[in-house]
Amino acid sequence: MKPARFAYHAPASVDEAIALLARYGGEAKLLAGGQSLVPLLNFRLSRPAALVDLNRVPALAYIREDDGHVRLGAMTRQRAIEFSPVIRRRLPLLAEATTLVGHLPIRSRGTIGGSLAHADPAAEYPTALTALGGQVVVRGPRGERTLAAGELFQGYLTTTLAADEMLVEIRLPAMPDGAGFAFEELSRRHGDFAIVGIAAIVVGHRGGRCASARLVTAGAGPMPVRLRAAEEILEREGLSDAAVEAAARRAAELVDPPSDIHASADYRRNLTRVLTARALRRAITRLDTLSPGGGPDTLSPSGGEGRVRGRP
Ligand SMILES: Cc1cc2nc3c(=O)[nH]c(=O)nc-3n(C[C@H](O)[C@H](O)[C@H](O)COP(=O)(O)OP(=O)(O)OC[C@H]3O[C@@H](n4cnc5c(N)ncnc54)[C@H](O)[C@@H]3O)c2cc1C
Repeated sequence: MKPARFAYHAPASVDEAIALLARYGGEAKLLAGGQSLVPLLNFRLSRPAALVDLNRVPALAYIREDDGHVRLGAMTRQRAIEFSPVIRRRLPLLAEATTLVGHLPIRSRGTIGGSLAHADPAAEYPTALTALGGQVVVRGPRGERTLAAGELFQGYLTTTLAADEMLVEIRLPAMPDGAGFAFEELSRRHGDFAIVGIAAIVVGHRGGRCASARLVTAGAGPMPVRLRAAEEILEREGLSDAAVEAAARRAAELVDPPSDIHASADYRRNLTRVLTARALRRAITRLDTLSPGGGPDTLSPSGGEGRVRGRP
């Protein structure tokens, strides 16, 4: 099918893009990589009055490291993230998650901002943002807001962004030196969305103790679920096989997944257990407990509280 008729705008700046969103009063859509939006337009599941194309706003595509953080412009292509030395060094979990996003041609067009704004519950980036304790910077006619992952995702394909607001930046604290990490998922074919995915990060101490752990799901609910009670088992009991198994069993109890044409709720719950154990085992093999550390020595609490700047 072809999309319904729409007006097309290609602003050169963020201010111009926001002015266009305001002008259409909620009836315009931002176009980033188009990998999710264009199929929706073609099936006429989305019929915006106008598209505001961000591909000619070069100021939105960058990866910068500063003060223990990595900042990414919303229009940074997934492929640029996959091959960035800064991301591999500071945020290896994000690099690994990116290799699981669709196929190379999709990652060549798709952007991190588009994926987060689309908020597919099975997508890797919302889970990675949550696991890494990151924040997003949102701009609109009323000013700028900084939101933690938990303040951005609201439900299935739904965020707290207003129709006249846009994501401009993603801020991620660098992972602690020596942290173990893994992103495990199961999908029917390589490149498909995950049926369930698990992001795991562990920060170790000598003697098998776990200083902090982060476990977050994809596809096991309408948005990423942080498995705090499972993380606590590791922080209390360490990183032995028994503790990993106990954390994985607890993880399965903490999710309330949907049944759909791809899998039943029971299957997804069981996958949550299996993939949590698998992700933790792989993360532990990567853990460098002897690392002297040059960066932070524990995981950032949760991306912190969001801030609102400008007029409310
Ligand atoms: C065959 C196929 C397989 C795929 N497999 C996967 C997969 O395994 N994992 C995965 O995560 N993704 C997958 N995707 C989706 C892909 O990652 C998309 O790139 C991503 O979801 C959307 O990014 P985009 O830049 O293409 O955004 P677009 O499609 O352009 O936009 C998506 C939505 O976000 C909005 N938007 C875009 N940018 C902004 C912004 N800066 N501020 C606010 N709103 C904005 C748009 O208005 C639209 O509503 C797949 C896609 C295809 C076609």
